[in-house]
Amino acid sequence: MTPPMSPSRHSSAVVAALIVLLVMTMTASRALSQAATRSAPIVTIARADGTSVRGKVVAADRDQVTVQSAAPGEKPQSVPWDQIKRISNGLTREQAHAQWKEDNRHRLCDACAGERVADCATCHGTGQDPEQRTECNTRHGGGRIACTNDKCDRGKVDCPKPCLKLSQGQWITKSDGKKYRTFRGRGGSSLDVSEGQFGELVDMNDGVPKLAGKCPECNGMAKITCPTCKGEQTVACVRCAGVGTVGPPCPACGAGKGKVKCETCGGSGLRTKPRASTAAPTTSARARGPGGDEGAGSRGELLVRLTGFLAPRCPTSSLSEAKDLADT
Ligand SMILES: [Zn+2]
Ligand SMILES: [Zn+2]
Ligand SMILES: [Zn+2]
Ligand SMILES: [Zn+2]
Ligand SMILES: [Zn+2]
Repeated sequence: MTPPMSPSRHSSAVVAALIVLLVMTMTASRALSQAATRSAPIVTIARADGTSVRGKVVAADRDQVTVQSAAPGEKPQSVPWDQIKRISNGLTREQAHAQWKEDNRHRLCDACAGERVADCATCHGTGQDPEQRTECNTRHGGGRIACTNDKCDRGKVDCPKPCLKLSQGQWITKSDGKKYRTFRGRGGSSLDVSEGQFGELVDMNDGVPKLAGKCPECNGMAKITCPTCKGEQTVACVRCAGVGTVGPPCPACGAGKGKVKCETCGGSGLRTKPRASTAAPTTSARARGPGGDEGAGSRGELLVRLTGFLAPRCPTSSLSEAKDLADT
């Protein structure tokens, strides 16, 4: 009975594991979005000018972080990212923007997907004058060059902690072909380690060398992801910033560096409210159609075409007529 059961048991175990994972992920993301509001920890925002603000993070997006001080009667204070040097909980602008997009995912602008900006039409996002730009003469493919960190070996560098690694200490190859290293301590004590122990720490605190387990910094790998190329092995070309061409700034977007305010949402990153939303809720929900937002445009346009009315100016009665018309 047991053998034929095992495949299904196995798959149900996999399903169970997936469910657990899913619940964990959902809990984690809920926890993250709640972190920005209720259960937010008290953080200290260090400004570039040396001053700091302390409080609960009540809002954060691409532009600024808003904190509420614990002191009674204090108003929430917003600090633009341009002025922020560091936030004590490690929150970065990228994370704040990503979280903001996640929190607003149902109403993000369709054109820019919440990015608030679009590629400049004149320079196609390069930020360079299209009339005057020339190929970057640095040899590279796609604007990227080999990682500039000379310690980088295929996207990895030696762990900065003193865990066992070939590049530190004296390693001797013994008759078995493996490399060994000897640590000498107080009172003639010694410890022999082999290359099989790369990534482990050696504790010498009491003068006697002892193995102290996997290095937590590199998780026992003796190497960490190269901080320069983030493990990519390539970095954006320094000369052309990865664009592939060089030239004077684009006359249209200038300091925007190839980006302009998204015209569709006016730079808010959010879908502008459909005009019909001022009408009675049942009618507007009806007009939007069962498909929700996607149908809004077409059905709304249909109504306008059929009735010659613009939805928000219509009294509710004519909208109902319009609805009947559209349904027949
Ligand atoms: Zn431009
Ligand atoms: Zn290490
Ligand atoms: Zn690298
Ligand atoms: Zn280049
Ligand atoms: Zn937009």
